[in-house]
Amino acid sequence: MSAEVTELTEMELLTLKESMLTQKALILNKSHEFKEEQSSMSAVAEEAEAASQDIANNISIHLHERDRTALYAIERALGKIADGTYGQCESCGECISARRLQARPFTALCIECMEEQESHSNIFQ
Ligand SMILES: [Zn+2]
Repeated sequence: MSAEVTELTEMELLTLKESMLTQKALILNKSHEFKEEQSSMSAVAEEAEAASQDIANNISIHLHERDRTALYAIERALGKIADGTYGQCESCGECISARRLQARPFTALCIECMEEQESHSNIFQ
């Protein structure tokens, strides 16, 4: 129990989710432009909302490494939001502070576990 750890409010979580969906739509939109010259932003946004991991996998073939990595991070975070585990540290299970999540929405570790991991090795970075 740490007093400094403030959990995200529902509103803040929604804001983060919105921004993730926007980022995802932008990445998917890029891949659409890559394949064909169609770009209906609203259609892509809907697709982003509905896209399954399979679709993301297929689309990602057309993406650059950086976009693919980002897309997976977004998928992962959105999945956690969906099942209610977003904001929990994957290592210790404690809540990650709202400030940290807002600065690094795709982080999977609380600051303590991150520092712990970094002190042991940078191989996984
Ligand atoms: Zn932790």
